[in-house]
Amino acid sequence: MLIAAQTCSMNVALATPHPRYVYFNFFSERLNGDILINEDQKSTSLSRLVFRSRVRNMVSPEKLLYKQPSVLVGRTDVVSVTPWLAPIVWEGTFDPVLVDNIYKPMNLTVATTVFAIGKYVRFLQDFLETAEKHFMVGFHVRYYVFTDRPHDVPSVNLSQGRHLSVIQVPGSNRWQEISARRMEIIQTTIERQIRREADYIFCLDVDSKFHARWGSESLGRLVAVIHPGYYEQTRDRFPYERRPASTAYIPMDEGDYYYGGAMIGGFVEDVYTLTKVCRTRFEEDAGNSIEAAWQEESHLNRYLLDNKPSKVLSPEYLWQDFKAKTKEVKVIRFSGVIKNYADVRPNV
Ligand code: UDP
Ligand code: MN
Repeated sequence: MLIAAQTCSMNVALATPHPRYVYFNFFSERLNGDILINEDQKSTSLSRLVFRSRVRNMVSPEKLLYKQPSVLVGRTDVVSVTPWLAPIVWEGTFDPVLVDNIYKPMNLTVATTVFAIGKYVRFLQDFLETAEKHFMVGFHVRYYVFTDRPHDVPSVNLSQGRHLSVIQVPGSNRWQEISARRMEIIQTTIERQIRREADYIFCLDVDSKFHARWGSESLGRLVAVIHPGYYEQTRDRFPYERRPASTAYIPMDEGDYYYGGAMIGGFVEDVYTLTKVCRTRFEEDAGNSIEAAWQEESHLNRYLLDNKPSKVLSPEYLWQDFKAKTKEVKVIRFSGVIKNYADVRPNV
């Protein structure tokens, strides 16, 4: 029985403007010090969390017809596998019908976390509307919207099997803090509810839109995306944290890719560990009065250097509207919108 989940829904302290969304308050539970635990936690131990994520066999439905895969003909203009043999997902490296037919019968739920704090609530409408068109279409999707302005969350029509929760979190007057605290809040929310509600999770930036399919080809145990700004650079040019005093430090002669902080994905369990480690290191740095060059993105890059992702998404999955399309990018699937930093951020 999910006692904790019931506690959450009783915590609805808001006049709910959208009856179809579920509202939680992030801190009310934390402060009352009386978090009830559910049976699966009791029967194991509090330090051993139970997750829904599990490895499944890749079963292709009988008689499914699709193009013969070739051993000799394929993309040659891009690299589609890492040196540790994880796929790098580009248009033309997967068959969308085949992958969907393998993953759909698994009856998966995909969690999507998105933060919209302060003026960033203005990005939610486009984010959600375009996600409904392109993101994991045909799958169960649970959006978790973290905001300090729950009344400004737009009402968006969700397709069947898709669900949205609004979770109230405090605002901040420093964007660096908002960006960095995402790790802590994701970690805590996974612990509290997402680990029971979803198999996979994607944590995405809100100041973005989907433009084309982002589907089951993106699913994997630990999934990262190559930042569109640095994939043509040598690693000594990557904006990794370069000060040895930081736990995010990466020396000049190390590093695989420069991963974008606007997307972290994978099994809920693996993303949980990632957020927990990054949060702890971020706090350790703060204790030593050091903030990594690109906050959680720097910690993410350090984590992924040691813990290699099992799937890497090409920059098709994280573009920027101000950046002209390059010839190797055949499809832009998700792209950051152009924003006026002075206008949307609480500090410069
Ligand atoms: N964010 C927010 N409010 C802010 C600043 C940031 O909600 O005032 C969240 C939002 O989800 C945003 C993410 O943190 O997409 C990362 O910040 P931002 O997009 O400004 O970083 P950039 O992509 O420009 O590096
Ligand atoms: Mn962004």
